[in-house]
Order: sequence, then structure tokens, then C-alpha cells
Amino acid sequence: MTARQLPVATPRQVRRAALGLIRRDAVAFSALLLLNALAAAAGLVSPWLLGRIVDAVDAGEGTRAVDRYALVIVVCALAQFLLTRQARFVGHRFGERTSARIREQLVDRALALPASAAERAGTGDLAARGAADVPQVSTTLRDAGPDVFIASLQIVFVLGAVFVLDARLGLCGLLGLIGIWCVTRWYLRRAHGGYLAEGAANSAMAEVLSATAAGARTVEALGLRERRIAACHEAVEHCRRTRTRTLFLRSVLFPVVDVSYAVPVVAVLLVGGALLDRGAVPLGTVVACALYLRQLDGPLDTILRWVDQLQSSGASFARIEGLGQEPVTAPGPGPAPAGDLIEVSGARYAYDGGRDVLHGVDLTVRPGERLALVGPSGAGKSTLGRLLAGIDRPHTGAVTVGGVPIAALGPDELRRQVVLVTQEHHVFADTVRDNLLIAAPAATDDELFAALRAVGADWVGELPGGLDTGLGAGGTPTDGARSQQLALARVVLADPHTLILDEATALLDPATARHTERALAAVLEGRTVIAIAHRLHTARDADRVAVLDGGRLTELGTHEELVAREGAYAALWRSWHGEPPTRTPHPRPPGDRSDSITL
Ligand code: ADP
Repeated sequence: MTARQLPVATPRQVRRAALGLIRRDAVAFSALLLLNALAAAAGLVSPWLLGRIVDAVDAGEGTRAVDRYALVIVVCALAQFLLTRQARFVGHRFGERTSARIREQLVDRALALPASAAERAGTGDLAARGAADVPQVSTTLRDAGPDVFIASLQIVFVLGAVFVLDARLGLCGLLGLIGIWCVTRWYLRRAHGGYLAEGAANSAMAEVLSATAAGARTVEALGLRERRIAACHEAVEHCRRTRTRTLFLRSVLFPVVDVSYAVPVVAVLLVGGALLDRGAVPLGTVVACALYLRQLDGPLDTILRWVDQLQSSGASFARIEGLGQEPVTAPGPGPAPAGDLIEVSGARYAYDGGRDVLHGVDLTVRPGERLALVGPSGAGKSTLGRLLAGIDRPHTGAVTVGGVPIAALGPDELRRQVVLVTQEHHVFADTVRDNLLIAAPAATDDELFAALRAVGADWVGELPGGLDTGLGAGGTPTDGARSQQLALARVVLADPHTLILDEATALLDPATARHTERALAAVLEGRTVIAIAHRLHTARDADRVAVLDGGRLTELGTHEELVAREGAYAALWRSWHGEPPTRTPHPRPPGDRSDSITL
């Protein structure tokens, strides 16, 4: 399965975002502009005065004039040095602050991504944007940005000065730069796409590698080694091809540019020499113009040295900004739900534009009831669970709580309404306290302990640091049962009126499952519960049973009603009791309660 990559911002969006960043630090940026302009202006004085010295010597003026000019040259060179240094300092600080903002924005946006978008994109793309694109942009802002900015201003000032001295020589210098201009444009046209392709190939490679590493056991168990190696090879080969393409672009740009440096100076010396012969220009002016154009080497070098970095970081910035194009979880504070009633009306859903897997489901979940969702595998139970939990939204129809679409609720509001409990229980590499506060940031220690007691997690009190004990990588290891207890304690703290259980206790060994069941029973107390029973054992104790088949709700009623109806549910129920199976291919062995939830 290929992951759908997250969006990439268009050049227009990138420009707008860059302007936005500049506007947020307008004072520093203005200071940067001013200091650079002053430094560039100070740099113009020396060549002009050298020209004057040549003219003075030519005219037989005394050495005192030459000394005066030389002194001014020294003062200006010193001023240029100090101003450039200060400009660079201000530029680097501006760059650091801005890259910190970009990092924070990336984290905010990644956290605001709808769970479904993050799941579909896979971890590789998101990780590549955080780990490769952000440092790339930061380097540009800290180093390349200020240097290129200074260099660009110097070029403008130098060319302006040549034009002021002699417009004809200025024109020669400008025409001499055409070669560099053309090859750079040729490069830039291709480089943006090239670097975007390189970034995408990096993401895809990271995705393939991390998926292979994460699923190493499955790969081994199913003998998929060769296939995964082939997939990795393909991803690496694709990466290599995209990198070779950008390398080719660089290998054309740099040699052409190196040769082109000399062109403006040669053009000015040739034309200046001809004009001098006819007495149309003083020698000092020709010398000053040639010296000015020689001065372009440094700034041009700087720009070309960084142009590559600018290109690739432009592509990186587009990928970082692209995260902002993904619709966020909470579009903003909307109307609060009026009541706890959950209604599904005409809900149709398809994964990634594929065929519908839910075909117009209508269901009303009464506040406080215990509803079991049963049906054969692939019927759409988990999908309906995701819609009820607000993780996905139907493309047609609606899933509402208190009259408000569940998927439109912000994370805080959603947590107060509905929580999906699955068999995945992540423990963050953080303290027990912070692991719990995710669900209720304002909870007091007493409330945290009460939640832990409710789920039977008394072991927290025995930890050396209590709530401040570190968990996860580098901290106290947490086994499956403890992780599950922490997850359930979070549910207690979030205090939603409705819980959706999707195989919440599956995959645990029977002893752990029983332990967790007790904790779960405490959590379920007083809430509406929708239990997805993948293998039908939860249903009997439920207030009502909803049967899904092929994405449609086929039966709805109490256990007794449905058994009496002699329909699909009755057949499922009979097969579970050991009678000849009609629908369930693998009846559970007696005593196996690993997937059972006592409602
Ligand atoms: P159940 O929970 O009843 O076993 P699901 O809701 O998991 O059924 O799946 C319903 C249908 O949707 C199945 O045909 C399944 O293949 C498909 N499906 C489930 N998850 C995805 C996904 N992430 N991408 C594409 N199709 C999916």
C-alpha cells in the first residue's frame, strides 16, 4: 500500500508565507536592510577614490591629495567591515528566530492534523518534513539568507555606481552579466521541480524503510524479506535518480558561471580602452569601473554558492508550508453540542476516493445505552466506529452529537463527548503525570490519582518518583496491561459521555484481559457505550445490538428480539454456541474471553 503524501504549498503560498514571516519580525528585518545598505554604500567609496587617485596622478597633483584619498579609503573599508559584521549578526539572529517559529509552526500543524490524514500519510513523510526539511530551511535562514541578502544589495549598489560613473561602461558591465543570468534562469526553472522530486523521494524512502523496520517481525514471519528488500532497493534507486538529476543541473551551472565572471570586466576594459583612445572617458573612470565590476565576483560567488541551498530550501519550505494546506482537526470554535444524543443519518463513506464501504447507515444511539455493533469481518464496523469517534467524516450524510457534526469538533470538545478505545495504547516517553494530563490539562494530582485508582493502576503509587516517574524509552518500562491502564485512566480524566470500544481488550492474554476488563467496567460506568464486537460475544449483555453487513445496517434490536427474528444475528449467535456455523468461520474455543467486554 502506498501512503498518500501530505500536500506541498504552491509558489504563491510559499511567497505569502515568507512575507508573513518577515512581517512578524519587521523591526529586525528593517535593521538588516538599513545596515546592509550602509555597508554596501561604504564599499563603493574605495574603487571610486582609486579612480580619483589615478586621475590625480595623471593630472600631476601633489601627494597630499593622494594621501587624503587613501585615508578616506581606509576609513570607509573599516566602516564597511563593521557594518557588514553587524548586518550579519542581525541577519543571523533574525534567521534563528524565524526558524524557531517555523519549527513551532510545524509541530502545531502536525499536532492539528486530522488523525486520518496523519495515518494515511504514514510516519515517513511527516518525519522527513520535520527531520530534513526544517533543518534545510533553518540553514538557509541562519546562513544562506543573510549572506545572499548582503550579496544582492552589493550587486545592486555596484552596478548603480558603474552607471553613475559612466552609463556606457555600466551597460557593458550589465550585458556582460547576461551569460550568468541565462544559465542561472535555466538552472532555477529546473531546480525547483528537481529538488521537490528529491524531497518526495526522500520521504518515500524514509516511509519504506521505517515501515520495513517497524514490521520486521511480520516480514520475517511471512517470508517477505525479498519483497521488502526489492521495495527498499526501488525506493533507494528512485532517490538516486532524483539526486543525479539535481547533480547534473549543478554540473552545468557552476562551470558556466565560473567562466562568465570575467566577461563584464573584459567588456568594460575593451570598450573603456576604445573610449579612452578617443578621449571620451578619463582613465580614472575606466579603472574605477573595472575595479567595481571585479568587486562583483565576491557577491556573485556568494549567491551562486547558496543558490543551490536556496532552491532546495525553497522546496523544503513548500513542503513545510504544505502541512498548513491539510484541513485541521478543529476548524475553529463552532456551536457546542446540545445534549448527548448521537445520530448517524444516511452515512456513506469511502477510503481515499475508493468504493463506498458504508452505504447509507442510519442509527440513533440513545444516551446511556449499551450498543453492540456486530457483523462479519469487513462489514464496516471499525469504519462506523471511526465516524462515530469523529476521526473520519462521511462523504454523504451526517454523524452528529447533540446536533453538531462530530468530526467538526475541536480536540478538547471532542474528548468531552466521544472517545475511541482501541487495543493501541501509546505511552509517551514522559512522566506519568504528563502522560495523563494530555487528556485533562487542568487536572490536579488528586484527580490523577483518583483516575488511576479507578482503573486499578495502584502501581503508580509505588513508583520511586510517583507521578513524576519517567515512562517509556529511557524511563520505567510499561507492559501491555499497564499501558492499557494508563490509556483507560486518560479516558476517565477526559470524562466523555460516550465510549466506543474497538477490540479494546483483544490481543491481551486472558489473565491480562480479565484484569483490564475490571478496569474497563469502572470506566464504562455511567456512560453510553458502543462496543464493536468483532467476534460476537459482547452482544448478549448489550441493551441493543446493531448488525452490519456489507456496509449496511441490516438488523437492530435487543439480543432476544434478534435471536427470535431468526435472521443474520440469530445465525451468528447459533454458530457461537457451537451449532453448525452459518456465517462465522472460526468459532471461539470455550474459555477464550480475550475479546470479550462485559457490558
Ligand atoms: P470490520 O471492522 O467490520 O471488520 P472495517 O470497517 O475494518 O470492517 O472495513 C470495512 C471495509 O473497508 C473493508 O472492505 C476493508 O477492506 C475496508 N477498509 C478498512 N480500512 C481501510 C483503509 N484504511 N483503507 C482502505 N480500505 C479500508
